[in-house]
Amino acid sequence: MTGIITIKPEREKPVLNQHPWVFSGAVDRVEGNPQPGDIVTLVSRKGRFLARGYYNPKSQIVVRILTWQDEPIDDDWWRRMLDRAIQSRENDHSWQIGDAYRLVNAESDYIPGLIVDRYAQWLSLQALTFYIDQQKRKIARMLVEICAERFRPIQILGVFERSDVDVRSKEGLSPEVGLLWGEEPPDRIQITADGIAVWVDIRKGHKTGFYLDQRENRTQLFKVANWHFPTLPNIPRNITVLNLFSYSGAFGLHVLELGAKVINVDSSYEALELAEENVKLNNVPLDRVEFIQANVFEYLRDMRDNGEQYDIIVLDPPKFAQSAQQVERAARGYKDLNLHAFQCVKPGGYLMTFSCSGAISADLFQKIVFGALADSGRQAQILRHLGPGEDHPVALTFPEGAYLKGLLLRVY
Ligand code: SAH
Repeated sequence: MTGIITIKPEREKPVLNQHPWVFSGAVDRVEGNPQPGDIVTLVSRKGRFLARGYYNPKSQIVVRILTWQDEPIDDDWWRRMLDRAIQSRENDHSWQIGDAYRLVNAESDYIPGLIVDRYAQWLSLQALTFYIDQQKRKIARMLVEICAERFRPIQILGVFERSDVDVRSKEGLSPEVGLLWGEEPPDRIQITADGIAVWVDIRKGHKTGFYLDQRENRTQLFKVANWHFPTLPNIPRNITVLNLFSYSGAFGLHVLELGAKVINVDSSYEALELAEENVKLNNVPLDRVEFIQANVFEYLRDMRDNGEQYDIIVLDPPKFAQSAQQVERAARGYKDLNLHAFQCVKPGGYLMTFSCSGAISADLFQKIVFGALADSGRQAQILRHLGPGEDHPVALTFPEGAYLKGLLLRVY
């Protein structure tokens, strides 16, 4: 234990309430000359133990808390926490319906700064903070040991690092990508998500390779298409799904098997190439799918002007608000998209609309969508509030973790 940090009395409350972040303004005194990446103990002004975490004075979040108990942060702690996170995924659906899901969800799994995703026999790891970056090789080894126990007979072949994210600069770190343990992964890994086969590019794909957080919403889309557009046995559904910001086309794959037509729109050529490979992988006739490289803002406006309408629209844009300062601009972007999307849904059709901006709350998002509806002259009902799947838990003490929110709407 190298450092002791005294917390200002008026700033103790969030620590006691188990919020994992300690901002520089909450620090009263630093003793013991701790270095970036050192474990520090947080105490009250009276010297009472509050918590223990890791230190980085280069970040505005000077301490991220690892435990609220007076216990050492040693290999035993690490093994216990990683095992608890991985074991919890055995109990939810993730385990039975596929081989790709999040194993460790950072702050929300009480391991701030660490993200680990499983893609079949590979793990993809993101180290978001200085301390986690220092520990990453040890973490990779432990993950492999734990997975060897828990996934038996399936073996993990390699752990690949995807720490190519901007937030690392706030910790004084540059991006890093490469092998941490085991074999180099191939360019594309085949995973199964809810019965659908998908190619994932864990070396260069978005995030850690795939948008795992949307997994359960893709199943929800399948249910909407299946239940709300009934058909006779063996007769394919005559519906068109407009999949906006499609990335590798995963939403569309789930409804193609029902006979739907799918139009994937994305600005990234590589994403659409992968989307086409995914359609082939699932043996769907390519003539039922379109891949359109376009800016969705312009595409939707054109479709609206042309009077085009679709049975279902999925609207899953990238993060528009990186911080609280960008909320207003982001809100205008979401409103614009949702307004035109409403106008392009057939009466009685559906809109699945999302925001993955942490700075925009579910409440604010709903208000933005309401504003878009009001301008569209249409009517809409909320059928469901959407969020990430159970493999992306959100710690109740860490509302910042609830970045993905969405609405399933029926539109008249
Ligand atoms: N729905 C996807 C994930 C979407 S991520 C899935 O289920 O996997 C956001 C996507 O939007 C990325 O693929 C990115 O290439 C694309 N994108 C970002 N800005 C865009 C724009 N203005 N027009 C079209 N696509 C855009």
